[in-house]
Amino acid sequence: MPFTAKVISTAEWGARPPLHLFALRTPKYVIIHHTDDQNPPNNPSRSTRDGAIKLAQRIQKDHFSRGWSDSGHNFLNTTGGFVLEGRTGTLSAVNQGLCLQSAHAAQDPGLLANGNDSPGIENEGNFMNFAMGSVQWASLVDLCASLCDACSISPNNIRGHREFSSTLCPGDWLFGQLPRLRQDVATKLGIALTAAQAFDKPTAADSFKLGDVGPMVLVLQRLLLGKGHSAGALDGIFGENTKAAIVAFQKASGIKPANGVVDPKTRKALGL
Ligand SMILES: [Zn+2]
Repeated sequence: MPFTAKVISTAEWGARPPLHLFALRTPKYVIIHHTDDQNPPNNPSRSTRDGAIKLAQRIQKDHFSRGWSDSGHNFLNTTGGFVLEGRTGTLSAVNQGLCLQSAHAAQDPGLLANGNDSPGIENEGNFMNFAMGSVQWASLVDLCASLCDACSISPNNIRGHREFSSTLCPGDWLFGQLPRLRQDVATKLGIALTAAQAFDKPTAADSFKLGDVGPMVLVLQRLLLGKGHSAGALDGIFGENTKAAIVAFQKASGIKPANGVVDPKTRKALGL
């Protein structure tokens, strides 16, 4: 299917030309970010088209100042529901079902790889605690659905920046909304997405234990936090703090043995 989301191109917002051309990649994910800017009513774009353009220009300038060759991300989604092309060439790439090599999701040890081969969406705001407004949410769903469709990406592969890099991005609130985003995108595309798929669950027999690393450990840490048992840093690393939080959860839930191993019984109690 063609890419149909309404996007303000770099030519339209007056982007500076990139310092060099970037390679075309086959994307696997759609990666969600926040810009870590102030939320309404003091948000940079003030939810207008002109403000959205100024924000895109400011971010590009900031990314050039980091030594990058263009905006690092592929799309910017503002509070007013305006979507802007980030890196020049992104729209041409997604119209071919591909992604322009970008610079928004470098891989850190133990986390998901090849993030920069997949489109990254910066959402204006800071979503640690703040809930995104309905207009910005709707444009995010539209953009994700169009990307999944045009680039043959499963809605299950809509991911957060923190699954690739050691960062709080896209904020705890927005990261916690990714299952809903996947579901909304699937609904828009007319795809049946089961609850299990929407949460990208491992198979029933899998256990997690000390020393494990990866996105599922991050999900585990978030679930523990939600149950009142902090594992310390949300870093996707199953260290001693995560083990201690599991033991506390197992004791509180009457699960025996309370040994800090996330066996199927513990997983069921956690909803993992
Ligand atoms: Zn990010």
